[in-house]
Amino acid sequence: MTPPTGFTYSPTTLTVDLDAIADNWRILRDRTAHKRAAAVVKADGYGLGLAPVARTLAAAGCDTFFVAHLDAGLELAEIFADRAPRPRICVMNGLMPGHEPVYAEHDLWPSLNDLGQIDLWRTYCRRVERKLPAALHCDTGMSRTGLDRTEAETVIGEPERLTGIDLRFLMSHMACADTPSHKMNREQQQRFADLSNRLPKPAEGAMLAASSATFLGPDWHFDWIRPGVCLYGVRPNTDGPNPMRPVVSLESKILQVRQIDAPETVGYGASHRVEGPTRIATLAVGYADGYLRSLSNTAKAFVGEAEVPVVGRVSMDLITVDVSGLPQIGPGDSVSLIGPHQDVDAVADQAGTIGYEILTSLGARYARRYIGGAA
Ligand SMILES: *Cc1c(COP(=O)(O)O)cnc(C)c1O
Repeated sequence: MTPPTGFTYSPTTLTVDLDAIADNWRILRDRTAHKRAAAVVKADGYGLGLAPVARTLAAAGCDTFFVAHLDAGLELAEIFADRAPRPRICVMNGLMPGHEPVYAEHDLWPSLNDLGQIDLWRTYCRRVERKLPAALHCDTGMSRTGLDRTEAETVIGEPERLTGIDLRFLMSHMACADTPSHKMNREQQQRFADLSNRLPKPAEGAMLAASSATFLGPDWHFDWIRPGVCLYGVRPNTDGPNPMRPVVSLESKILQVRQIDAPETVGYGASHRVEGPTRIATLAVGYADGYLRSLSNTAKAFVGEAEVPVVGRVSMDLITVDVSGLPQIGPGDSVSLIGPHQDVDAVADQAGTIGYEILTSLGARYARRYIGGAA
C-alpha cells in the first residue's frame, strides 16, 4: 500500500500558525512611523517552509523579501510567479562572478557587498544597457558582508562607481541589537546615519534594523526595517515579555512506556540512572530532527499541565522522558515539546542556544501542519 504524497506516518507534528506570522509582521511594521517592513525568509523561512511563509506574508501586504542564497531567490521567484506585481526579492549573500544574468533574468536584486561586486554589476548593466536594481550593503560592525570603512569612503569619494546601477536600498546589519544596553547599538546607528548622509541616495531608502533593532527605537528605523526571526515568534531581546505571537508548536506521540522497578540506566552513556520505581516514555524525536543533543538531561516536555523532564541523552531518533507522575499515560498519548507551556526561546535556553538555531534545525521528518494563512 503506497500512501499518498505528503502523507506521513510520523508520530511527531510541527504546527506552524501562519496567521501568527502575518500578525507578527504587522506588529513589527506598526512599530515604525513609516510602516515600511520587508521580511527576511532566508533558510527556508527560518525552517518553517519558504512557500507557505512567503505567501502568507505577501498576502498580508509585504512586498519586499530578503533571502541569503541565490537558489532561495530563484525558488521564491517561482513561488511568486502568479503574483502581480511580483514582490521584490533581494539576495543578501552578494553577487558572484557569472551570476549577473541569473539576477537579471529573474528580476532578483543582488546585495552588492564589496567594490568588486559593484564593478561586476555596473559592467553588466552597461553591457545589457539596462539600469538594474541592487542593494548596497555597508558593514558597520560585523566584519562579515558589506563594504568595509575604506571601501565605503571610496564610493563616497567616487560616486560614479554606482552610475548605471539602479540603487534601491542602502543597508547594514546590527551586531548587538538583542542587548538593548550595548554601546555598539548607538555606535552602529551613528555610523550608518553618517554613511547614508554621504552616499548616493537609494530609491527606496536606507535600512538598518532587523528584528531586535526594531525595538531599539525610531532612530534605528530609517526608511525600512528588515526583520526575520520575530516574524516567527522568537523574542527580540530578553529585557521584557515577548511581544510577538507564538508561531510554532511541536507535539509527539509516545511510542513506548518502560516501567522500571529496580535500579537501571537510561540511554547512551548511562548518563541518567533511576534508583526506584520509574516510568520512562520514549518519543520519536532525536538530534537528527533538530532536537539538539545539548537538551540531554535538561529539557522539559509537557503532558497536559504536567511537566515531564527529558532524561538521558538525546539519541539520533529518540528521546526519553520521565512520566512517573502520570501512571495513566501510555503509547499514543501526546507530549508537547514546544507549545503553550514553553516557547521556542525556552527550549533554546535549555539547549544553551538561541531561538534561531532551534527553528532552523527543525527536522524534515516531522509531519507539518499549517494553520491559518494563505497557504
Ligand atoms: C538574518 C539577517 C536579517 C534578519 O535578522 P533577524 O535577527 O532574524 O531579524 C536581516 N539582515 C541581515 C543582513 C541578516 O543576515
